[in-house]
Parts: sequence; C-alpha cells; structure tokens
Amino acid sequence: MISVKKAQSIINDNIRPLGSESILLKNVGNRINGQNITAPFSVPLFNNSAMDGFAVRAVDTEGAKKYSPITFMMVGTSSAGTPSNITLQPGECVQCMTGGKIPEGADSIVIVENSSGFSDSKTVEIYKEANIGDHIRRQGEEIQEGDVIISMGTCITPSEIGILATFGYEKVSVMIKPKVAIFVTGNELVEPGNKIKSGQIYNSNLYMLSELAEKSGVEIVMSEVIKDDKDSLRKLLSNALQICDIIISSGGVSMGRFDYVREIYNELGVQEHFWKVAQKPGKPLFFGTMKSSLIFGLPGNPISSLICYVEYIHSTIHGFQKKKKDSKYRAILTENFAVENKKHRYLFGQSWIDPSSGKLFCSPTSKLGSHMLTASIESNCILESPPGKQGLKAGDKITINLLNWRNF
Ligand code: AMP
Ligand code: MG
Repeated sequence: MISVKKAQSIINDNIRPLGSESILLKNVGNRINGQNITAPFSVPLFNNSAMDGFAVRAVDTEGAKKYSPITFMMVGTSSAGTPSNITLQPGECVQCMTGGKIPEGADSIVIVENSSGFSDSKTVEIYKEANIGDHIRRQGEEIQEGDVIISMGTCITPSEIGILATFGYEKVSVMIKPKVAIFVTGNELVEPGNKIKSGQIYNSNLYMLSELAEKSGVEIVMSEVIKDDKDSLRKLLSNALQICDIIISSGGVSMGRFDYVREIYNELGVQEHFWKVAQKPGKPLFFGTMKSSLIFGLPGNPISSLICYVEYIHSTIHGFQKKKKDSKYRAILTENFAVENKKHRYLFGQSWIDPSSGKLFCSPTSKLGSHMLTASIESNCILESPPGKQGLKAGDKITINLLNWRNF
C-alpha cells in the first residue's frame, strides 16, 4: 500500500500531453489554450474618442466657460467606422462620436454635455476648457503588439473568447481532448428506468463518472456497463486499450471473489504501477499504463469513485492538456474532523467565506460511509487530512479541494 503523495507522483510521471489542434473560434469555449497567443497589433489600434463630443486643440479652449463660451468652426464629423480625413486648424473642431477616430491636429475631446450640442450648423459653442488627452483612448494604451494576451494552459472562458475576437483570431490552437472510456462493473447493476429486483441496485456511477468526465473536458468514446464476467471484461477493456488515452473503470477491483478487473488488466498486458493507496475512502484504487494509455481502476462504492475521480483523474486530465492547476485552499474547521491513523482521510463537505471576517470556513459531512452518495449533495468541496495520531478540532485548519463546478 502506498501513500497518497506517492500515488499522485506516480500518476504525474506518466502524463504525456497530447499536443494541440486548430479549431474555429465559435467552438473554443471551455477548451484549453494550446499556445501563448500574442497580440498581432496594438489596442486601441488608433487614437479614438471615449465619449460623444468634439475633437479640438486643447489650447483653443483656454478660458471657455458656460457663461463665456468659445465659438468653434465645425468642419466635419468622425464616427465609429467612418473617420474624418480633416486636419484640424486653430479654432476648428470635428464632431466626434465614441469610437470615432481622432482627426489629425486634435489633441482632446470636449464632451457634448459641455457644448451647445450636435447640429448641422457651421459653428458650436464650447463651455469648458479641455486638457490635452481628455477623453482620448490612446493607440496602444491597453496592449502592445507582440504582448502575450492569453497564455498556454488557460481555460477559454467568455472573456478569452471576446479577446480572441478583438484581435481577429478566426481559429485557435487548443489542446487535444483525451479520449476516455468509462466502464462500470457489477452483476447487481440495473439501469435507471427499469424495475429493480431483490439484491439489485441502480447504476449511479456510469452517469456520475460520465458527467465528471464532461466537466473535465474529455471526449468520451466508450461508456459501458459490464457484468462481473471475465470474457466481457477482456473484450471491452482490450478494445478500449486500443483507442483510448484514459480508461476509467468502477468496481470489481477489491478483494471480492468476483472482482476480476485487476486480473484482466494484468492479463491484457497493463503495467501495474500501484494497487491500494493508504486512503479512506478509495483504498483499492488501481493505476496502470499500457503504451501511452493511463488506466484507473476505481472502487465501486459511489463516494470512493467520486473522490478518486476528483483527486486523481480530474487533475490528470488537466495535466494531459497542460491546464494551469486549480489550487487547493486551507480553511478553518467549524467542527471536529476525525483523522485516520494510517490513512489519508477524505470527506465531502461545505466551505464558505464568512462575510464579516472574510475568512474561509468549512465543515465535513456527517455521513461517513463510502456507500452514502448523498454525503456529496450540496457539498462544494472535499476536505482532506493526511494520516495522524490526533484528530483535528473545530478552529484548526484543513485542506479543501474546491469542486470546480461549485463555488464558495
Ligand atoms: P465493488 O467495488 O465492485 O466491490 O463495489 C463496491 C460497492 O459499490 C458495492 O456495494 C456495489 O454494489 C457498489 N457499486 C459498484 N458499482 C456501482 C455502480 N455503478 N453504481 C452504484 N453502485 C455501485
Ligand atoms: Mg462489484
């Protein structure tokens, strides 16, 4: 039996990123950026107006006041998309809308509220002095050409999509999604929608693991329910090993008489890196490799499967895509946490930021069994403690792993 730390480092050593592919901007949501993306031009691209108003030479406005306005000659209009090609002479102004290019010779904008207003007349009264640069968005003030705008490994969210469009990227290089097979095993499993007989249970893990895999951003290429039967296991697993980067099985990997998963993996030539980790839940976790495929055998108890997925597989998938790691946090316990003597203890729980102190607090679920999937309901994190002699008390700090799809 190995430690959690050792198990994580063995898995990390076997992660081989898959490279990138170019896809259309409209499809890049939630994908992982595959390379550092630089600005092909400076932004703003040209000096333009931040407000609706008049482009002037600031010097010409000296002394302008509401009750002693200065009259300017109105010599043109510049609006967003329709610049004026006029070069401003002393005493002249151009009506300039938000986003409109600043005409040559102008060095500031007087907002329309400080004037007699837009019109078709040849003159306008300006009521306020301007300073050089007023209400002008300067060329390059936001980003310089060649600056990195989105770094490799960033998850592409609405802001990144907007930024990519701002810089005219029609296609984006994103990390290839790992191909994943998910198997759940068990003679007792019945699909939701069917009648359940004595001794049977509904199959929850396939649905839960598939949704988790979607959240991690993979391509699910196989998802199957298998009986505890060597032949069907052999057939499906050998098929998956040909085409998948990651194979995830649930159940059949413990000490039971009908737990054949490990045996079949070994028989098919999977190199076993570990089986059994000093943790609770999830002790029988299996990890192996075959060529470049990673194989995870999760124990079938739903909470064990769920915690092993979040703690080991979610981060592996991020590793495949070189995604920047999500960090774990330290939070203050509001209840005692029973630490295990020899095992790393994981429990679902809730975490929240106390509005008055701004501190991060957490509390574990009171449902301790690994068969109790409802322990995870309304949880937003997994609390974890390494093995130890003493339990943690309310007020002590503990590490939490915030579930990616939940919030504080
Ligand atoms: P196993 O790891 O196969 O020994 O299974 C451990 C426990 O998890 C047993 O009580 C199983 O019935 C249960 N279990 C296994 N697979 C699933 C599944 N897909 N959905 C719900 N419970 C399961
Ligand atoms: Mg089983």
